[in-house]
Amino acid sequence: MNGVNEFIGIKIKNLVYQNPGQDTWTRDGRTDIPARANFIPSQVTGCKNRQTRICFSVFVLLFIVWGLFGEGIGGFALPTVYGKEPGEEETPSFTPDGIILHSADCTGPGGKYTDFSASKNFHYIIKKDGKVVKVAADKAVPHVGSEFNDRSLSILIEGNFGAEDVFRQILQGKKVETSLPPTQWNAVKRLLFKLMNKYQIPLSQIERHIDHDVWVNCPGLNFPYFELLYSMSKDMIRDAKKPLLEDICKNKKISIPIQNACLVVDKSEKKLSIYAGKTLLKTYNIGLSRVPSGDKEKEGDLKTPTGTFYICEKYPQRAWMRLSYPDKKHADKGLENKIITREEYDKIIASVERDGIPCQDTKLGCDVGIHGVGFPYGKMRTDSTAGCIALEDPEAFEIYRCIPLKTQVIIKE
Ligand SMILES: [Zn+2]
Repeated sequence: MNGVNEFIGIKIKNLVYQNPGQDTWTRDGRTDIPARANFIPSQVTGCKNRQTRICFSVFVLLFIVWGLFGEGIGGFALPTVYGKEPGEEETPSFTPDGIILHSADCTGPGGKYTDFSASKNFHYIIKKDGKVVKVAADKAVPHVGSEFNDRSLSILIEGNFGAEDVFRQILQGKKVETSLPPTQWNAVKRLLFKLMNKYQIPLSQIERHIDHDVWVNCPGLNFPYFELLYSMSKDMIRDAKKPLLEDICKNKKISIPIQNACLVVDKSEKKLSIYAGKTLLKTYNIGLSRVPSGDKEKEGDLKTPTGTFYICEKYPQRAWMRLSYPDKKHADKGLENKIITREEYDKIIASVERDGIPCQDTKLGCDVGIHGVGFPYGKMRTDSTAGCIALEDPEAFEIYRCIPLKTQVIIKE
């Protein structure tokens, strides 16, 4: 039963539905709405109520039972990857602005994707030996029915990264992979860079199937998604002839993650500096909102809060790092100005004491983070957020890699 509990644990921990980073640049070029839903670790749910989690757990459990025993009656006949009939959709109809990664097992539990050549479900397949199979024209729409799939390029990576039914794998003693063979790894990177350059796709718009569809675990929990994007980030930073944070640390004999790291943000200069203790390591350009000056007071004011915070959550999509806002100082002020009620104030204080993650659903605003903002490298807009601190994608990934949770963040006017 350990496997079962572990699986449920994984599901609940990883698949709680939320949509943070509402200020992030979106594919529509709009900054005020969350264009795309994300699945992010439950740690980011802050003080979301317990009932939701319990309901979700029960639902996941029922779903698993259905998947295990319901195959004969249609279990897991889920629309994880839809394909149009061959010939039905070949007309160029969109310009890709994102890339979705799948693994060979992405048809979900109970199903297997074996016939690589016959499918129109993907644009590209990258086999274990590094061979790239082009399945459909880039501008063909192989997926149907969702706003991101039909604007994205789909790449299927051959391998078993745990996308398949976890129970079956445990029962059958199947080995789940955690890495790609070097030739395949290089082929994946080469193709991604080629497509990014061709269509001006930013690094942070390379996402996983699972980031958009709660019903699949594709390309699998063990797929080295962050490692892949971090590795590409390093290539991009090197190509831009900038120093790598990793190399700077190595030269100064500082181990990663940097345990005494501190981020200092200067809003008026639009700079973020990373320190190890008192040693300055590297300084980055940042983006803020259109009207960033002044302390954040409430939801929607587009301000970046000032003060001393810490990174309270991290998740790899867009290298998103949540700041511990609202803190006590901002809650005190909010209560005094009657922006929040006494009850909400108490909720904020209790949530911070409980797990260090301030309650994210009051009028003080939420989802203030530091993250990649989704522009091609070197072309970041510096006024596109609603209060978050934006970084060039590859630089966000390197900071994410080098700092641990609880890293102090000082934000100055
Ligand atoms: Zn998939």
